[in-house]
Amino acid sequence: MINFHPSEMQLQSFANGTLNPSLSLIVSSHCDLCRHCQQKLKEVTQVVASQSLIVSEKEESDLSVFGDMMQNIMDEPEDMNTRASEPSFLDLDGRHFPLPRSLGRFVNRTASWKKLVGKLWQAQVDIGGDVRAEFIYMEHGGSVPEHTHRGNEWTLVINGEFEDGHHHFETGDLILLDSQHTHTPVSNDPDGCLVFSIVDKPLHFTSGLARLLNPFSHLFFK
Ligand SMILES: [Zn+2]
Repeated sequence: MINFHPSEMQLQSFANGTLNPSLSLIVSSHCDLCRHCQQKLKEVTQVVASQSLIVSEKEESDLSVFGDMMQNIMDEPEDMNTRASEPSFLDLDGRHFPLPRSLGRFVNRTASWKKLVGKLWQAQVDIGGDVRAEFIYMEHGGSVPEHTHRGNEWTLVINGEFEDGHHHFETGDLILLDSQHTHTPVSNDPDGCLVFSIVDKPLHFTSGLARLLNPFSHLFFK
């Protein structure tokens, strides 16, 4: 069950097109997995569209184009473009992970998997912009050393479960952290856990020997 969703304000910004591109990607991927937010987003989008009644004709037509676009994003395409709705998969070690539709288009821009310390796998994704995006797979018992963030860390659970010392996360959960948070992700899922993560600044490792990793935190960033 999905317990962590974007805030109402973030959904509104997304519908208004004012959310930054990286966050938009991760919110839209969450909505692919979350019926609750799909419904909410439809409602918010309708409000945006209805506001077009009180703006100028030019803006109105822009908004209706935007409304159509949002509708297209939210609806399963049933026209000639159905191909776009076919699920994309990410492969690792013979396993086959279906991706949310919004992330499917980045499969071809995903580098090959690298095995890191701590039973972690990492595959960087080129989503453009000045951020680092990657798929991270934690094997059963795999963990990322305790760290905080100099910037934002946005994570979407694609498949499996993990804990971070504060919460338990399952498939579809959206985790939005900033420099206020310190956490230690670990997966006790027998099948491990695949997440998609975006950070806009290097991680900062905070505990014990992991502090030694700080000079190498670019490995987790760039
Ligand atoms: Zn949701």
